[in-house]
Amino acid sequence: MTHRKPRPGTPVPDLLPDRPTLPKVRDVAKDCKACDLYKTGTQTVFGEGPSRAEVMFVGEQPGDVEDLAGHPFVGPAGKLLDRALAQAGIDRSLVYVTNVVKHFKWEPRGKRRIHKKPRVSEIKACRPWLEAELRAVKPSVIVCLGATAAQSVIGPQFKLMANRGTVIPSPLGEQVVATIHPSAVLRAPDSEGRKQAYDSLVADLKVVARLLRKPR
Ligand code: SF4
Repeated sequence: MTHRKPRPGTPVPDLLPDRPTLPKVRDVAKDCKACDLYKTGTQTVFGEGPSRAEVMFVGEQPGDVEDLAGHPFVGPAGKLLDRALAQAGIDRSLVYVTNVVKHFKWEPRGKRRIHKKPRVSEIKACRPWLEAELRAVKPSVIVCLGATAAQSVIGPQFKLMANRGTVIPSPLGEQVVATIHPSAVLRAPDSEGRKQAYDSLVADLKVVARLLRKPR
């Protein structure tokens, strides 16, 4: 597939193809420069998974490993998510994973690239990619990983720790469940904190597993 490279600042809706199939949308997203994050990230890290996945997991943004690999959730947090999904009884191969922002935003700390939270304007600029993914995949359940994803999908007033693990409708989907981002488990200060955070993640994912088992 070929298309003309967009100028910096061209908004995402102007890039979307007439018939926005997932492969076409993924292809044009490679050249997105709708916000300045294309300058910090190595490449667009688009969502991946079955084109008709029953469940779509939405995180904040690709991390350091994902940025270099060009694939979402393949770093340490992704590996932890894989383990939590297996424990909750969700088949990882049936899951579509993506992020609300598709380029890695970071700041240097010594030789390391440290995650930096995206601005509201960056999340807004990138949102049409997520909406296009949702229109194409049509998952019956959306799972938001972390507050940034949850506030983007459910609404800016959403309080993650008060409402995590419950089924909430949103403008983007009838069944949305929010939980912590797996990187929050890795960031817990000690092994007891990590265990508690991990167990709570698995408990929320079991809510998702039950939704997926429900007959439609
Ligand atoms: S973060 Fe999103 S909107 Fe910004 S350049 Fe990357 S793909 Fe485009």
